[in-house]
Amino acid sequence: MKLDSKIPEGTIDQKWTKYRSSIPLVNPANKRSLEVIVIGSGLAGASAASSLAEMGYKVKVFCFQDSPRRAHSIAAQGGINAAKNYQNDGDSTYRLFYDTIKGGDYRAREANVHRLAEVSSNIIDQCVAQGVPLAREYGGLLSNRSFGGTQVQRTFYAAGQTGQQLLLGAYSALQRQVGMGAVELCARHEMLDVVTIDGVARGIIARNLITGEMEKHFGHAVLLCTGGYGNVFYLSTNAMGSNVTAAWKAHKKGAFFGNPCYTQIHPTCIPVSGDHQSKLTLMSESLRNDGRIWVPKKKDDNRKPTDIPEEERDYYLERRYPAFGNLVPRDVASRAAKERCDAGYGVGNSKMAVYLDFAFNTARYGRTEATKRNIHNPSQEEIMRLGKEVVKEKYGNLFDMYQQITGENPYEVPMRIYPAVHYTMGGLWVDYNLMTTVKGLYALGEANFSDHGANRLGASALMQGLADGYFVIPYTIGVYLSTEVTRMSAEKDKADSIDKLKTKHPAFDAALKEQNDLINKFLNIKGTKSVESFHKRLGLIMWNKCGMARNKQGLTEAIAEIQALRKEFWSDVRVLGSADEFNPDLEKAGRVADFIELGELMCKDALNREESCGGHFREEHQTEEGEAKRDDVNFAYVAAWEYKGVSDWELNKEELKYENIKIAQRSYK
Ligand SMILES: Cc1cc2nc3c(=O)[nH]c(=O)nc-3n(C[C@H](O)[C@H](O)[C@H](O)COP(=O)(O)OP(=O)(O)OC[C@H]3O[C@@H](n4cnc5c(N)ncnc54)[C@H](O)[C@@H]3O)c2cc1C
Repeated sequence: MKLDSKIPEGTIDQKWTKYRSSIPLVNPANKRSLEVIVIGSGLAGASAASSLAEMGYKVKVFCFQDSPRRAHSIAAQGGINAAKNYQNDGDSTYRLFYDTIKGGDYRAREANVHRLAEVSSNIIDQCVAQGVPLAREYGGLLSNRSFGGTQVQRTFYAAGQTGQQLLLGAYSALQRQVGMGAVELCARHEMLDVVTIDGVARGIIARNLITGEMEKHFGHAVLLCTGGYGNVFYLSTNAMGSNVTAAWKAHKKGAFFGNPCYTQIHPTCIPVSGDHQSKLTLMSESLRNDGRIWVPKKKDDNRKPTDIPEEERDYYLERRYPAFGNLVPRDVASRAAKERCDAGYGVGNSKMAVYLDFAFNTARYGRTEATKRNIHNPSQEEIMRLGKEVVKEKYGNLFDMYQQITGENPYEVPMRIYPAVHYTMGGLWVDYNLMTTVKGLYALGEANFSDHGANRLGASALMQGLADGYFVIPYTIGVYLSTEVTRMSAEKDKADSIDKLKTKHPAFDAALKEQNDLINKFLNIKGTKSVESFHKRLGLIMWNKCGMARNKQGLTEAIAEIQALRKEFWSDVRVLGSADEFNPDLEKAGRVADFIELGELMCKDALNREESCGGHFREEHQTEEGEAKRDDVNFAYVAAWEYKGVSDWELNKEELKYENIKIAQRSYK
């Protein structure tokens, strides 16, 4: 059997507790002789590396930024979920588990999601102990807000900079280990390949991005914590450097790719303003706590939003989904915005935007403030002034960002928003231990496919990254490394054992040569078109044909177009500079080459999945009301794609079993 998810026996609430207490241990002396390579220093990588080093393993961390602190995780704005039930509003581990499975449209693995919900509370305790300044109520208790797809308030936050504060916590833990010599940090290094020996991961090939020097690094285990691949669409809310190279190279070395077509399109982003753009900006989902989404009831209404009276506004999410209103999950909110714009009700110059309006809740906050301050009969002006102070405290940096980008003041006029590519639920397939289909190779955080099914709920990515790094891998890596101890002992007298040869093993030289050849190939094409232009063209194909809505014809066309683009890339790309210097164009060439191949697989996966679920919306499969229509009989599986060669993949299926949650049509009405 190619796929073994290794889900432990037992009832759902016992699986993890029992399992983690029975995992073989590695004794402290042996830990010191085991080397672990961690690629990535975002929340998943920094938390894993610091935890493993603290446990006694020898750890090497790689990131392509100049500092681990600049990993994409730092951009996360809105918050992190945990089932603490501080609000006494009915939350529990089970409810977080249930919301996540339902939010993912019944396409996630139950056992993983339950474990995530179980450890969610530990994460908050860990971060608070590290000194992460999560927002607090006046009395000192940690504060919560709401995110989409839930009816409880379970999101912990630090203004609109939650990722930054959490990453500073994880980074401090990492630097402590660097300071103690337990972690060797290799910033400004890009992993270009995994080295496998007899099918087992034994290290990596990395390029020093400053000098261009190619390096070989040995490890008993390799952890890919390399983030998501949303930039395959060119325009996304991801950091400009986010890419798929590490995961893709691992895929080509035998790691199956899980559900590549599951992409999250976030409903609240600043709309595209023209052709010149290379980046999109998120307006955090937390804004949907206090912002109401609407469009004019009249088509092509060109009045200023503040001139459109209440009765002429369509609060379409509140109308269509009364139970969840503006807090429906992202896939549902995005599709509803697209539907309104496509029907001619969009706003702004492009007409591809809807309003996110804070006036109603600003006034509500203002009235409460006035009461608190004993101001009787406050004027409307006074109410709005007081309300804006509250809104500023909660979302000030997001409002500033919006104003700087659009030139409009969101305290005075509604924000204009439109969906944009944001997160990828797909990623390397991993088992319950977070190991890929390559022995010794793990994937954590956004780089794996594991916990979010076909749609991730807001504030759950930070939770998953830190769960994987602080609370899962420190246990599960023992399953494998304990066997390494046995192997090392058995091979200790062998002159050519892998532990003696390390990077002198011929497999390292072969992998190094392959990467050097690839770099020379890029530089020697000397074509006429920039790397950037190929990325942009790929992004357009992906957005138009494998974006918010997909259909058979579009996907078939996209596959042919991407194959043609790949051929053109390899014959006509012009990569500037040379190999032995700091060369961002060369870095990007490698990343775009991998994105092109990934794009093709995403379209193939989307074409194969003849149903709609979560962020994967096949136009042929929708209900009469335009909602996603799943096919549980034929598609309740994880699609795990095995690389066979250029444009050639084999589909493996992991059947999803729901034993604790009744699989049902998702409803937020
Ligand atoms: C604008 C924005 C806001 C968000 N807000 C929230 C939020 O409020 N709540 C929430 O839960 N989620 C949020 N998310 C999602 C969340 O930020 C990410 O899913 C999460 O931070 C990913 O963490 P990670 O550790 O898996 O990867 P990343 O933080 O992306 O880190 C990847 C690391 O891998 C390294 N790397 C990658 N490839 C290589 C390579 N080949 N060689 C060497 N190093 C490599 C990078 O240098 C980096 O250190 C947001 C996302 C965006 C885009």
